[in-house]
Amino acid sequence: LNRRLDGFGTTIFAEMSALATRTGSINLGQGFPDTDGPEEVREAAVRALRDGRGNQYPPGPGIPELRSAISEHQARRYGLAFDPDTEVLVTAGATEAIAAALLALLEPGDEVIALEPYYDSYAACIAMAGGRRVPVTLRPSAGRDRFVLDLDELRAAVTDRTRLILLNTPHNPTGTVLTRAELAAIAQLAVERDLLVVTDEVYEHLVFDGEHVPLVTFPGMRDRTVTISSAGKTFSFTGWKVGWVTASPGLVNAVRTAKQFLTYVASGPFQYAVAEALRLPDTYFSHLADDLRAKRDLLSNGLVEAGFDVFRPAGTYFVTTDIRPLGDDDGFAFCRSLPARCGVVAIPNAVFYNDTNGGTAFVRFAFCKRTEVLHDAISRLKQLR
Ligand code: PMP
Ligand code: GLN
Repeated sequence: LNRRLDGFGTTIFAEMSALATRTGSINLGQGFPDTDGPEEVREAAVRALRDGRGNQYPPGPGIPELRSAISEHQARRYGLAFDPDTEVLVTAGATEAIAAALLALLEPGDEVIALEPYYDSYAACIAMAGGRRVPVTLRPSAGRDRFVLDLDELRAAVTDRTRLILLNTPHNPTGTVLTRAELAAIAQLAVERDLLVVTDEVYEHLVFDGEHVPLVTFPGMRDRTVTISSAGKTFSFTGWKVGWVTASPGLVNAVRTAKQFLTYVASGPFQYAVAEALRLPDTYFSHLADDLRAKRDLLSNGLVEAGFDVFRPAGTYFVTTDIRPLGDDDGFAFCRSLPARCGVVAIPNAVFYNDTNGGTAFVRFAFCKRTEVLHDAISRLKQLR
């Protein structure tokens, strides 16, 4: 393994899902739903397969039907106009979009500001691109009810070497949804310091309090923002690996150049199905959020009863907790012992920090599971007291 990838080993998600399988525990670690997305969307995939649509290499930028559907979705939800031919790129999940964007836009030695704790692929992709990760840490608010961004810290992190900000809202793992005021300040900073922003908005539809505002809607951002999303979260098909990028033509071209040599193309028949999914009525999206809001409340309340400090998330399908009230302060040890202690698997947030002492007492639980599974998990977690 080369030096750039030194220390990246096996992702925590693979390790913890294997632990769940081995011990027969309830897996609230890796974020994936335990019920698949809409029947009609699955049927659309079957039809595409059967009719021979997408069984051979689809076009490099993605099939036209899907690029149009992505463009229409951005218009319908946010009033944004993206040309499906020049401003939309289909990728193998958001994961490839992140990798291709960083590989395409960074010079070796460029600094990338990333909100910490950060989704684990950010660190690996910045490293593969030869960039330097500069964390700006989200910290518990004074009332300890949410994780907040310190805008002064963000401003202070920008140097002459900063090339881009890698943003994520709604934010994994904290569940923070950046407010309109926070996003406006980030946009202003990007314009002032002439930065690009790669913004990972895969949880755009999983918002329970407040609203998701795309960064690209702010003044001066249309030509400096690469927006990333994915069908994995919005339609509960994490195995299909259909993601996308929307940006101005120059940025889409750059990302596509790198993407061509990563997968070239992916997920042919599923692209047809996701094109149909994006045209589902608004009620699909609101029901998804309503269902997950109820699950957020169920698991958050259960975790409080089980003795955890809980940061109730405004978005995503994760809840971050502080384990110190339970008498533990090492999230790694806690997560490794949890299956034996009560038959539940969770993720130690420490893996999402640069500093080896960062986030050690925080542990993340996923609530994108059936209600009965969450009830079962809560009664198991109550045995910890
Ligand atoms: N970004 C974030 C913040 C995520 O949580 C995930 C989901 N694991 C991804 C990107 C990757 O998305 P995909 O499965 O579409 O590659
Ligand atoms: N995004 C999911 C999570 O944060 C898992 C993704 C993965 O397994 N790579 O849990």
